[in-house]
Amino acid sequence: MRAIVYHGPGKKNWEEVPKPSIQEDLDAVVRVDAVTICGTDLHILKGDVPTVTEGRILGHEAVGTIEEIGSGVTTVAPGDRVLVSCITACGRCRSCKEARYGLCVGGGSWILGHRIDGTQAEYVRVPFADTSTHLVPDGVSDDAVLMLADICPTSYEVGVLNGRVRPGDTVAVVGAGPIGLAAILTAQLFSPSQIVAIDIADPRLDAAKQFGAGVLVNNDRDDAVERVREITGGLGADTAIEAVGVPESFELCTNLVRPGGVVANVGVHGKPATLHLEDLWIKGVTVTTGLVDTYSTPTLLKLIRSGQLDVGRFVTHRYPMDGFLQAYDTFSRAGETGALKVVLTRP
Ligand SMILES: [Zn+2]
Ligand SMILES: [Zn+2]
Repeated sequence: MRAIVYHGPGKKNWEEVPKPSIQEDLDAVVRVDAVTICGTDLHILKGDVPTVTEGRILGHEAVGTIEEIGSGVTTVAPGDRVLVSCITACGRCRSCKEARYGLCVGGGSWILGHRIDGTQAEYVRVPFADTSTHLVPDGVSDDAVLMLADICPTSYEVGVLNGRVRPGDTVAVVGAGPIGLAAILTAQLFSPSQIVAIDIADPRLDAAKQFGAGVLVNNDRDDAVERVREITGGLGADTAIEAVGVPESFELCTNLVRPGGVVANVGVHGKPATLHLEDLWIKGVTVTTGLVDTYSTPTLLKLIRSGQLDVGRFVTHRYPMDGFLQAYDTFSRAGETGALKVVLTRP
């Protein structure tokens, strides 16, 4: 079969590799029908994730068909259509028993395309298949389900739910890339009165408007803190969601939030950010962090199926799998290409 193989910083190739097989009783081998590329894959290719070693097949998001199962797998069977989630769950460790699958210490968490071979391939081996795949209901498209492999549960759980968005709230989202847009989209499930999108790129702010943000601030030109104070009677946002992952955007969030509000960090940080406790201590601000657990995936599947969540609109580009290198190029130049999510399918 063919797969995207990482060959060290800056190097990857779509090449012939052995097809995976069952290694453990709880494994499934999934034929990949639709797969996408994540911003995290670009981080890996920059060399920012040293736990990914040379020769690793990348990718942690896919929709596919179960091809083969190990002897211990009981809830999925060959032929079933499944979502392969970015988080693998052993289902048995203390973290998994508390639905904190992102913190799994029994061999799961984010392992696909990280510690074991991933989904950017024609086939993928998925450990703990019963607890790490989700059966896809009829009537929902591969495109839509694929958005639940990572971006939607990440933005919903780590941004909106950790951020305790309530009806009537003002929600500020810093960063209008796919993760920020998914936060804007899923925040609306809680009827906030105002969603403020903050970014330095106008095309991204245009996208944020289409995804439901009512107030747009280009913080290259305008003062986001002042603008948010203006529309909140001087108080600040109830929730500030950080969806970039640089020190400046985190610190901006701590300035945007009202006393008693929540800063929900979603961005993946590569450098230390300063926590200004000298200002924050008296404001009663809550700061939340975390990797997605994907406990919300079944809920999000229901919302897609019922038409309450339109996530297919994230897909801006599509390619056959043989166009993987071109898809990477398009996705890595999102500023010019306008790419949000690229989808690759079997020809
Ligand atoms: Zn991802
Ligand atoms: Zn576990």
